[in-house]
Amino acid sequence: MSHDVIVVGGGIIGASAAYALARRGHKVLVMDQVSIPNPQGSSDDHARVFRLTHGKDSFTTDLAARTIPLWKEHERTFGEEFLTQNGVLDLASGDGKVEEASYKTLSDLRLRVERLSSQQVAERYRMIRPRCCKFAVFHPDGGMVWAKRAIEAFSRGILRSRGALEPGVKIVKILSDKGKVTALKDSKGKFWRAEHYVFASGAWTREVLADYGIPVAITRQECLYLRPPRNQGRYRPTHFPVFSFSKLGVHGFPVHIHGFMKIGYHRAGVENRAPVIPLLPDRKFEGQARQVFKDFVPDLADFKEMEGRVHYYTRTPDGDFLLDQLPGVDNAWLAAAFAGGGPMFAPLVGQILSQLVSGEKPAVNLHRFRISRLRLRPKA
Ligand SMILES: Cc1cc2nc3c(=O)[nH]c(=O)nc-3n(C[C@H](O)[C@H](O)[C@H](O)COP(=O)(O)OP(=O)(O)OC[C@H]3O[C@@H](n4cnc5c(N)ncnc54)[C@H](O)[C@@H]3O)c2cc1C
Repeated sequence: MSHDVIVVGGGIIGASAAYALARRGHKVLVMDQVSIPNPQGSSDDHARVFRLTHGKDSFTTDLAARTIPLWKEHERTFGEEFLTQNGVLDLASGDGKVEEASYKTLSDLRLRVERLSSQQVAERYRMIRPRCCKFAVFHPDGGMVWAKRAIEAFSRGILRSRGALEPGVKIVKILSDKGKVTALKDSKGKFWRAEHYVFASGAWTREVLADYGIPVAITRQECLYLRPPRNQGRYRPTHFPVFSFSKLGVHGFPVHIHGFMKIGYHRAGVENRAPVIPLLPDRKFEGQARQVFKDFVPDLADFKEMEGRVHYYTRTPDGDFLLDQLPGVDNAWLAAAFAGGGPMFAPLVGQILSQLVSGEKPAVNLHRFRISRLRLRPKA
C-alpha cells in the first residue's frame, strides 16, 4: 500500500483536506472523476462569498471567524491572496429579522459590524439607490474567497509534499470488511488501497456512498457574470462590497475577473436526482437579475455582456454539513453537504479532517455535523 490516505473528490473540500493531511506528513492521493478542479463540481468558480453573517447562528458565525486566520496562513505560505476582505453588505428588504439577528450575533461576539440606514448606504455607495432597503448590516471582515485559485495552490502543495493527484478516476464501489474500508474500485475495474479514506464527493455523495444511504439532496443554482455597461471602476472591490438580499435570495460580487461581476441565486433551486451535465443556465435568471439591479443599482440593469453558469448545492434535510466518520467504519470519513458554504470554511474543514484521520480530537465540536442525526437509506 503506497498511500496513507485516499481522498475522493478534488473540489475545495477534498483539496483542502488533502493539503492539511500532506502537511502533517501523510502520504496522500487525491482522485477526481474529471479533473482537479472539475468544471462540473461546485467549487470551480473564481470567487465565492465569505460571510460572518449567519442570522442568530452564533456557532456558524464563530466557525467563519475562526477560518479567517487559517486563510491568512495559507496566503503567507503560498504568497497569493485567497480571501479578499472588501466587506459584505446585507440589505434588509423584508422584515429585516435575519439581518437584525446577524447584527446582534456579530456584536455579541465582538466582531466588527455596522448597522446602516438606507440613506447611509446610499451616501457610502453612490451607485446604490436610496431607499433600496429598510436598513443594512455591513461587516468589513467578510468578502470573497478565491476558490479555484485555492484548489490550484493546495494541489501544488500536495505534490510538493510527496502526495499525488489522479484526475480521471471515477470510484464506483467501496469495498469493506470487518468495520474497515479495504479498497475502492474505479470505473475501469482498478482497485485503489490506502490506510484511510476521505470522501469529499460533493453533489455525487449520494451516488458514491449509495451503500450507506446518505440522504443528501442536490439543487441547481444559477449565477450570472455580467460586465457593468458603464463606470466599471466604481464596481471594483475597493469601492463596492459583496452584497446580499436575503429576502430575494440573491447575492452579488464586485468586478473581480476580466471586468466581470457576478450575481447568484442562493435560495434552494430546483432539485435534481443527480447532476445533469452539461450544466446549462436558465435565461429566466437573467430577468430576475435585471430586476434586482433596477431596484438596487439602476446603472447596472441594462448590462449586455453576460455569461450564465449553473452549479449544484448539496444539502442535508436540516441544512447542516456532514463531517463525520462513515457509519460502522473505522478508517473512512465523509465531508459533504456544504450547500452555500464549502469554500468559506474550507481551511477549517481541512484542518478538522486532518485531525480526525490522525486520531486527534478535532478543533471544533462536531456534534451538529454527525451522520447519525439523519435517517439513512442504504441501498437494499
Ligand atoms: C451557484 C453556487 C454558489 C455558491 N456560493 C457560495 C458562496 O458564495 N460561498 C461559499 O462558501 N459557498 C458557496 N457555494 C457552495 C460551494 O461552492 C460548495 O459548498 C463547495 O464548492 C463544495 O465543495 P466540495 O469540495 O464539497 O464539492 P465539489 O467542488 O463539487 O467537489 C466534489 C468533487 O468530487 C468529485 N467526485 C464525485 N464523485 C466522484 C467519484 N465517484 N469518483 C471520483 N471523484 C468524484 C467531483 O468530480 C468533484 O470534483 C455555492 C455553490 C453554488 C452551486
